[in-house]
Amino acid sequence: QIHMIKFGDLNWGDSLGQGTFTRIFKGYKTDFRDGEKHMTEVILKELDSAYKNCWESLFEAASLMSQISHKHLLHVYGVSVHGSQNIMVQEFVKYGALDLYLKRGTSVSVSWKLSIAKQLACALNFLEEQNIVHGNICAKNLLLAREGDPSLGSSPFIKLSDPGISVVMMGNDVILDRIPWVAPEVLDAPDNLTLECDKWSFGATVWEIFNDGNSPLRGWNLDQKRNFYENMHQLPPSQWTELADLIAQCMDYDAAFRPSCRSIIRQLNSLITSDYVILHATEPVTQ
Ligand code: ATP
Ligand code: MG
Repeated sequence: QIHMIKFGDLNWGDSLGQGTFTRIFKGYKTDFRDGEKHMTEVILKELDSAYKNCWESLFEAASLMSQISHKHLLHVYGVSVHGSQNIMVQEFVKYGALDLYLKRGTSVSVSWKLSIAKQLACALNFLEEQNIVHGNICAKNLLLAREGDPSLGSSPFIKLSDPGISVVMMGNDVILDRIPWVAPEVLDAPDNLTLECDKWSFGATVWEIFNDGNSPLRGWNLDQKRNFYENMHQLPPSQWTELADLIAQCMDYDAAFRPSCRSIIRQLNSLITSDYVILHATEPVTQ
């Protein structure tokens, strides 16, 4: 039931990098509507040929995204198969991945970051209502469709990207490398992703956003990352107490204690958004 796109209707442009078992290209998709030729900007996510066996998993991610529709979820047009090439065709999002955007050093206000956290919570709430687990929430998978005015705080707009290859298909090392975004219980049972796993990832992602896209635990090797979870450590708390508290609730090692989306949204809405007060309060967050 997923839309199959003719390989000949795809035009390939610049490479935008690599993902987990994938290569990402900018491109165009050709359509004929009303007897006219239309070119749509797209992203072509091609499965690395070394991981051919993951095609079903990537196909499932594409199918999931094309079946649900929400303003903060990325649109997937369909898939294309050509010989040994397997490709997911999705919406091109102008400002790209949020982690890169933040790391570029654009100065953004606290209310700008807060509005992104709220939009992500809104997308998660939608998924929770549909009982759909995403499984790969992180700032890299938040795509920035509109900048707003980052310094004045006028609203940005994000879209949550597809989850990609399922953790079930990954080796242990790839999963360990996803610490601290992957929920701790996934290490023991990658085939048992739950809505609670997404809550943990949400907490890690909010931490990442408020630390200007710096990956928590960046540069740590897999043993150090494994130890971090084995010793039940927490990320360094934000100086903004209410935010630190929300992140800690989401990143609770006991999945049963993580908050509902309803509660997450309520807490985000209750955060005071005066940039002056909050900027002052969060100054020493980065370690
Ligand atoms: P994963 O499943 O681990 O997320 P992936 O295949 O989705 O892997 P990413 O690492 O998420 O690959 O994406 C690679 C880069 O491609 C991103 O950093 C971003 O710059 C760019 N990119 C991905 N999707 C889009 C999109 N829809 N619009 C614009 N840029 C995108
Ligand atoms: Mg991605």
